[in-house]
Amino acid sequence: MASSDLARVAVLAPVRGLFTYALPPALAPGAVTGRRVIVPFGARRLTGFIVDRASEPPAGVTPREVAELLDDGPFLPDALFRFLLWTADYYVHPPGEVLRAALPPAGARRPHGRREDEPVPASPSKTLTTEQAAAAAAIGAAVEARRFQPFLLHGVTGSGKTEVYLHAIERTLATGRGAVVLVPEIGLTPQLVRRFRERIGEQIAVLHSGTSRGERAREWQRLRRGDARVAIGVRTAVFAPVDSLGLVVVDEEHDPSFKQEERLCYHARDMAVARAKLAACPVVLGSATPSLESLANAAAGRYLRLDLPRRVGDRPLPAVEILDLRGVDRPILHEPLLLALGETLARGEQAILFLNRRGHSGSLCCPACGHVEKCVQCSVSLTQHLARRRLVCHYCGASRPIPERCPVCGAEPVPVGAGTEKVEEEVARLFPAARVARLDGDLTRTALARTLRAFHDRRLDVLVGTQIVAKGHDFPGVTLVGVVLADTGLNLPDFRASERSFQVLLQVAGRAGRGERSGRVLVQTYHPDHPALVHLIRHDYASFAAGEMNRRKAIGWPPFSRLCAVRVDAKNPGAAERAARQLSRLAEDRIRQTGARASVLGPSLAPLERIKGRTRWHLLLRARSYATLRDLTLTLQQAADLGPVRVVFDVDPLSMM
Ligand code: ADP
Ligand code: ZN
Repeated sequence: MASSDLARVAVLAPVRGLFTYALPPALAPGAVTGRRVIVPFGARRLTGFIVDRASEPPAGVTPREVAELLDDGPFLPDALFRFLLWTADYYVHPPGEVLRAALPPAGARRPHGRREDEPVPASPSKTLTTEQAAAAAAIGAAVEARRFQPFLLHGVTGSGKTEVYLHAIERTLATGRGAVVLVPEIGLTPQLVRRFRERIGEQIAVLHSGTSRGERAREWQRLRRGDARVAIGVRTAVFAPVDSLGLVVVDEEHDPSFKQEERLCYHARDMAVARAKLAACPVVLGSATPSLESLANAAAGRYLRLDLPRRVGDRPLPAVEILDLRGVDRPILHEPLLLALGETLARGEQAILFLNRRGHSGSLCCPACGHVEKCVQCSVSLTQHLARRRLVCHYCGASRPIPERCPVCGAEPVPVGAGTEKVEEEVARLFPAARVARLDGDLTRTALARTLRAFHDRRLDVLVGTQIVAKGHDFPGVTLVGVVLADTGLNLPDFRASERSFQVLLQVAGRAGRGERSGRVLVQTYHPDHPALVHLIRHDYASFAAGEMNRRKAIGWPPFSRLCAVRVDAKNPGAAERAARQLSRLAEDRIRQTGARASVLGPSLAPLERIKGRTRWHLLLRARSYATLRDLTLTLQQAADLGPVRVVFDVDPLSMM
């Protein structure tokens, strides 16, 4: 056999690196890059992808033979295949695991029946405002030039960002190329998909986890065959098989749902930029509250900024008022909010009440001995859900009946703090004629969609919900937004906590006054002097972000450094701690040896010490450059086979909890 007849293969298994196989003469001519193969692996036969050909095996390796070539040619578009390998390399993750993330659902049966969302009537494109037209023209020029260019489209809520995306996509299709559009949670924004269908019609393929495997497989095939040219979907859609990609769009680019925190830890927004770069096309990151990372990239000139500073039709942004809850007896709906709600309902308008805690109350606490009901598996207090008559753990989902007596002293426990269920109950009690519904993670997907539809069609007056109500919804009938408690997220032990809570507050405020009538936002808080609230009153995201940016710079957090979180967990608390300390020492040694500009933070118990019965430790690798971070990560990975201890490396982590 000629020595050149070797192929390097990424096998679909959680193993690092590529494996070299020999090609029998009959298979050699068809063994092209990207083609799927069956190869022997240990005692098993596995599917893999040919990455490239090689002439020499690695030293000391006698290659086994490729058993079979699958399909007629490469399984994925070539640019997508190269992007997936790049992703594996960037996140120092097994390539086969990344390739698997891009494959259609396996074993899917052929879908039958009609697609529920099929002949949506077409809707004409709108005449753009001057600012929209300028943004669309800049993006359009990059589309036609087939040039990589990231754009940061910073448009206030209701400024018509979606319209800009639609124009850019139409222009992309006109050049014969396709597009990928990432949105945070499709199930929660059915309207957005409807708007895309109205304009782009059959060329759309929708990819999200809420549909059946068969449906997802069908949409995947339509894209692969080129029957559909625009993929719209949640974070996994960044891997959609769109050939000749001409545009990538990330809507609500600040949204944390773009980050996957398990198995392959990746950020779909960042990968969207990488994919666009490899495809030589523009990418648009849109938001009313851009992430500090994207703002820093724009400030450094890596992204081109496009601003939509006004709402469409020059509608005013809603007036924001702060309500001081200190010393107030009825903190759920304090007097001014109660009055405003009554007036809104009397005028036949709609209201949204936002509280970032589902369930009925916060924890269940004993007034006599202070005992708090906690999850046995996770280190968090349980939340009382009256609708289900149970105490529920919001981390592992475990639940148990609500106890009548404190298990420690026998006194009657009392619920502390309110959740969305309680707010809903209060509104229904105070306004018996109002049609009230709740929107939170306790609802099934179908119930969520039904509620959103009913609210949109004005068959509901008040919507009470968690951050789900802050997503990009466009409800023109909403003139009042009440924030029941602004403080919930501000004090978490996470350096992004204030960025995140401010984004949610500004986004939820942005749901008010999008129609003909102007809107009003009332924000209840125990910290009326919190600096973030001053910026909220002025809808001044830029000033908030500038202050936050300075704070990050002073302490060296991203975007002024690069991080890799190393998460260690085990059933045995001692084993988790030992492994974390060992990894930490290794990293310290490596930094000393290489003299790299880097540091190790921790190891420490994670703020959520235990989840699902596993004790969690973590350490953070922090470096000035990606190259240094990567070197440290690789050093630790070589030592990370620690038996029953699980170690996850999260490059550019989002959650610090
Ligand atoms: P954003 O995504 O920035 O929050 P949307 O794209 O949802 O804003 O636009 C807000 C509302 O304004 C929508 O109802 C949309 O149909 C409407 N709209 C957007 N652009 C225009 C335009 N150029 N002319 C008229 N209406 C528009
Ligand atoms: Zn739990």
